[in-house]
Amino acid sequence: MTDGRTPYTYCPHCRAELQEEIVFGRSRRVCPECGFIYFRDPKVGAGVLAERDGKVVLVRRAVVPALGSWCLPSGFVEYDEGPEQAAVREFLEETGLVVRLNELLDVRQHKNDTRGPGVVILYRGQIVGGEISAGDDASEVGLFGPDELPEDIAFATHRRVLARWQEEVRRNGYSI
Ligand SMILES: [Zn+2]
Repeated sequence: MTDGRTPYTYCPHCRAELQEEIVFGRSRRVCPECGFIYFRDPKVGAGVLAERDGKVVLVRRAVVPALGSWCLPSGFVEYDEGPEQAAVREFLEETGLVVRLNELLDVRQHKNDTRGPGVVILYRGQIVGGEISAGDDASEVGLFGPDELPEDIAFATHRRVLARWQEEVRRNGYSI
């Protein structure tokens, strides 16, 4: 699978040229000097669907890919944190709002991101504090009712949970 990121040619530890070998059931690049095995992992992302006054909180992307499109506040999980921690952190960084997670909404693989394939973990959350202020990867924070969702929503994984939310609110008059 091509993922938009050039695979390592040289060992990141000892700089020897990596060699293609069958290891753990598939072809991988292996360092003949130090034994490093190059496992190409999916990037893990986390995000939150939360409402204020019955409207969902979306952010407008200030970065590529999908620059200018709307999406749920979300981002990559850092090396030393869990997905829930990442989801709460990203929400605060992008919206200025403090969110508490209520439940897991969806876990999906995606393959069409130019930054490579990934797994995104989306939660339902509840806003418990803070003040709206767009930051980090977001240029704008918007609140959208179920009949006001913007046309241009980035990421199929986000569109999917938003469609479910929209359906739920239309059916019940509320969600959560
Ligand atoms: Zn090496």
